Amino acid sequence: MPSGVYPRVKKWKRPDRATPDVCYGCKVALVRGQNWTTSKDAPKYCRVCANERSKAYYYRNPAAQIAKRSRYYGKLRREAYAAYGGRCACCGESRFEFLTIDHIKGDGAEHRKTVAPGSRILQWLQQRGWPKEDFQLLCWNCNCAKGIRGGCPHESEPALTSFPWALPQVA
Ligand SMILES: [Zn+2]
Ligand SMILES: [Zn+2]
Ligand SMILES: [Zn+2]
Repeated sequence: MPSGVYPRVKKWKRPDRATPDVCYGCKVALVRGQNWTTSKDAPKYCRVCANERSKAYYYRNPAAQIAKRSRYYGKLRREAYAAYGGRCACCGESRFEFLTIDHIKGDGAEHRKTVAPGSRILQWLQQRGWPKEDFQLLCWNCNCAKGIRGGCPHESEPALTSFPWALPQVA
């Protein structure tokens, strides 16, 4: 799935000025694309100083930073899972810990490489309003079965709820 298919996220644009702003830290002139990136709002620091500052901030209290990060990703994951229906599209598994985002067409590896490595996939999806046509929620079992065997064994079975011994589904 080429990334151009989804609407591009509007990026903040720095107005062109006659005299360039300078870094608060090392006083170097800030040049777009050279020592600052376009992903942030108006930069106050050059890329080198910004890296130093974020490192210093992290090392002041690593445990708090890690906790903050995991809270952020936990919230992001819950939002993603709610947006994609809260249960495995194949077997109906709804326990948070079992669920993962699946690339319906099976091009996950390619997608991860090109647009969203690692956990950035969730941010990527969030920025695009959780597109449903190419992504779904699957449990790890169904996801792995699909990846390794090209299809989940559940697909050839009747739905779990039709078994007489099936437990009532938790709402
Ligand atoms: Zn600087
Ligand atoms: Zn499943
Ligand atoms: Zn399945």
